[in-house]
Amino acid sequence: MGNSLNTSIKQNKERAFGIKLMHNELPTLDNLEKRRPDIYLGKTTCVMCQNEKETLDHLLSCKYTEEIRKQIWKSTTKKIIENWIPRHQSNKKIQISSHFEDFLKNLGDNTLLLSKNIINFCLGLCDTSDSKNWDLQLAKTGITSGKAKIIFIKTSQFFIRSLRKHIWNPRCEKTQLWEKEMGITRIQKRSRNPDATKLKSQRIRTLNKRPRGKKEKLNQDQDHNRKNTLENIRMTIWHWIKEGKKWLNM
Ligand SMILES: [Zn+2]
Repeated sequence: MGNSLNTSIKQNKERAFGIKLMHNELPTLDNLEKRRPDIYLGKTTCVMCQNEKETLDHLLSCKYTEEIRKQIWKSTTKKIIENWIPRHQSNKKIQISSHFEDFLKNLGDNTLLLSKNIINFCLGLCDTSDSKNWDLQLAKTGITSGKAKIIFIKTSQFFIRSLRKHIWNPRCEKTQLWEKEMGITRIQKRSRNPDATKLKSQRIRTLNKRPRGKKEKLNQDQDHNRKNTLENIRMTIWHWIKEGKKWLNM
């Protein structure tokens, strides 16, 4: 019971990490600066390399974690070759060739090249030519196109879990230590942002004074529609991932 509860807490945390990663909502220092300028203004230097501003883009391309990203790809390919391919092969006698290993290495190099590619890979997306090549290369190892898709989903899910475990979690531990040194406390972080409260009351006062114009109403409607569309996309993707997980018995 305790174990399954722990597992589901872990899964929820992993899911939340995925959603935040795809919407650039992780509490990277640049996002914290936008949310809480009263605490983080001008304090956005990456705690890992202590050189550049910490943005999502930087988090996934920071020099300090370059080796770790390469290691993550290595353990991902190990999983593909040692676990998932043998499990799904139609003909168990087919040996994995060095060409296939080269193909995986190239795919890794391309994925790790840009943070945008890493995010797409985490979402289980890749361009049509890569996707065709994936099917083709896996077919050579005795994997049907349906199974190739299953292995692709497993691969991207393993990759995102590894990013959280080996890059995001250590980064958070380091950031917490840095915050302690800077005198940023938990209580302070949980407290209300005094600027936001001030801004909010100012906004309410202005809104009460001014009659709402047609244009303003239109902007609000557009904003509302955009938020609804984003929420729908988010729900669809997560429903799809959840179904995929159930289907794969993960
Ligand atoms: Zn850095």
